[in-house]
Parts: sequence; C-alpha cells; structure tokens
Amino acid sequence: MENQTRLESWNNYCDDFVNHLRNSKAVLALLGAGLSASSGISTYQGSGSTWQGHLVRDLATRSRFERDPVLVWEYYRHRQAEILSAVPNAGHFALAGLATIKPDFLTITQNVDDLSQRARHPPELLVPIHGSLLDLHCTNTSCNYFHHHNSHDPHLRPQPSPPTPSCPLCTFLLRPSITRFGDPLPPSHLSTIESWFSAHPTIDLMLVIGCACT
Ligand SMILES: [Zn+2]
Repeated sequence: MENQTRLESWNNYCDDFVNHLRNSKAVLALLGAGLSASSGISTYQGSGSTWQGHLVRDLATRSRFERDPVLVWEYYRHRQAEILSAVPNAGHFALAGLATIKPDFLTITQNVDDLSQRARHPPELLVPIHGSLLDLHCTNTSCNYFHHHNSHDPHLRPQPSPPTPSCPLCTFLLRPSITRFGDPLPPSHLSTIESWFSAHPTIDLMLVIGCACT
C-alpha cells in the first residue's frame, strides 16, 4: 500500500514536471559530468580525483601542462580515447530533441566529451562552455591553427611518437581546446549566454542535470 502511494505520488510529480516543461518557453539547462556517466565517461568528481596517481585537478592546469606536457598529453589521450569509444545516451538525445522543438531552450554544457554534439543537439542552442577535448589549437598565440573534432589524431595511439603533437603551421605544441582550472571562460560563449539572458529576462524553467549539486 505504501509502495502504491509512493508510485502514485511519483507519477503525479512526473505529470506535473511534463506539464510545466510543456508550458515553459524560456528554458535553461546546465549539464555536468553526471549526464555522460552512463555513457561510460569518467566523472573525475571531487578535488581528490586521481589518474595514474596524479591529481586530476593538477593535470588540468596550465602550469602543469607547461611544466610536463608529455604527462598531461598522455592524460588527454586517455580521455580522448574514452570519449571516442563512448556514444550519447538517452539523456543527450532527449535534450537534443527538446531543443529542436523549443527555440528558446538554451543548454550550457560543462562537459568536454562532445556527446551532446554527437546527439545532434542544435549547435546554436548549445554552449560548450568548457570546450571539447576533440578540438585542438596551437599554443602559439600568434598562430590561428585550429582542428575541429580531431578523432583521427595519430596521437591517440597508445604510444605516439613524438609523444606530444606539434602544430603543422608553426611547430609549436598543440593542446586541446578546453578550459582548464584557472583559465578564463571563452568570451564568445559568455557573450552567447549574456545575449540569451537579455532576450529572456524571465526564465520559466531551469534544468540542472548531472552536476555535483544534483
Ligand atoms: Zn601553430
């Protein structure tokens, strides 16, 4: 009897949510690592998370990359390989589908795994605020080399030679186009978010999915 009551209240809750979602115009979603966990992507949550004995929070910094690019690239390749072997899950597809029918639905994803993009989330309604591990750019600030969706990078091989990729234009070191700890957020993405808030001073619904706080 108690279970029956619980099930009914859960069903009522779901109905209320669906109705509210259906009637909401301005919807904002914030996505975190938990969304991709069921696709097999490691979440590395918590400040004490490690990879091969190294603190992830330390590996994902500019200073560590500059100090030890071979090790940090090894970590990046591990993550790139994990991402390339994963596929979007039902959550990614549901959000992408929702975006196709709600033109005022903006999604900000903190994930760098490209899974929302591969679920065909409309790009104009998706802000990958931390970038993508599959995009590469040059560390030479005078060089504009950029490689989008670098899924065929020979450096993804287990033992690449040389161990760090070089820019084909200027030979400087390449790095994934992601926001590391301490890096500023990309101005173009912040501008997109600010424009959306200007156009939608009132938000009908905010979805927070897969973040450490949910
Ligand atoms: Zn370059």
